[in-house]
Amino acid sequence: MSSPSHNPAFTIFDLTGRTALVTGASSGIGRHFALTLAAAGAEVVVTARRVDRLHALVAEIHASGGKAHAMALDVTQRTAIQTCLDAAIQTCGSLDIIVNNAGISDTKNVLKYNDDDWDAILDTNLKGAWMMTQEAAQRMLTFDRGGSIINVSSILARRVTGGVGPYSAAKAGLSHLTRSMALELARYAIRVNAIAPGYIVTELNEEFLGSAAGDQLKSRIPSRSFGEAASLDGALLLLASDAGRYMTGAEIVVDGGHLCSSL
Ligand code: NDP
Repeated sequence: MSSPSHNPAFTIFDLTGRTALVTGASSGIGRHFALTLAAAGAEVVVTARRVDRLHALVAEIHASGGKAHAMALDVTQRTAIQTCLDAAIQTCGSLDIIVNNAGISDTKNVLKYNDDDWDAILDTNLKGAWMMTQEAAQRMLTFDRGGSIINVSSILARRVTGGVGPYSAAKAGLSHLTRSMALELARYAIRVNAIAPGYIVTELNEEFLGSAAGDQLKSRIPSRSFGEAASLDGALLLLASDAGRYMTGAEIVVDGGHLCSSL
């Protein structure tokens, strides 16, 4: 029997020697993804607007033996993205993995949204990922060793529910942009894929998911459960690592079967 270190199941997801940048790492899924990538061996650049939270996360990663750096970033500002990417490359020496996770949502009737709401939601969830991918891919080209871009979309890119029109439109755009950018960046060995989570308990939604309306929603999910950030780890590591080296333009749905249900 081969030893664990010779077993491909133990090494294929290894990210040692890779640099990963995660947007929206100050809470929820992004925070968890940073911990997962660091545990898999990546040197992680954690970014968001709430820098105090990032410093706490970096301390946690260091304490468990990983490598991490905190950098302030508002993904709606192209110059901030450029500055952050250049600083990340200067600090880590390379750039291999980008996780476009930063996102905001709102819930109200379609007639109540104003243009500022629309702009904020689209700028963060869609334009931010567009600008980050463009800027990161341009820099990845200079290293000539490809890369992996992972967009955090949503099952709401494929199904609709009340109150989240702009968010659903942004995520549908992000899912389609994933395929479009995959098509054009494949020639440079830069892979672009998406994860489409169902309902995952985080700060974004914990109040709602814990309410009576949340219980009703749960009863319509085939697995009768909400996910947790760790439910997405398999998809994340597959797309980030050599295990997914022939995958691009794909979207992995992780939703307890929600998309299978018409409820
Ligand atoms: P959280 O609210 O916990 O985290 C959102 C993160 O995005 C925060 O770290 C926030 O950091 C960051 N962020 C928001 N605006 C900006 C900005 N302008 N620039 C940089 N960072 C920003 O939400 P989740 O962890 O639940 O969501 C993470 C992603 O997963 C989102 O894209 C969301 O749409 C997606 N998703 C979540 C699902 C769920 O059920 N939780 C389901 C499907 C998709 P800061 O405020 O410090 O900048």
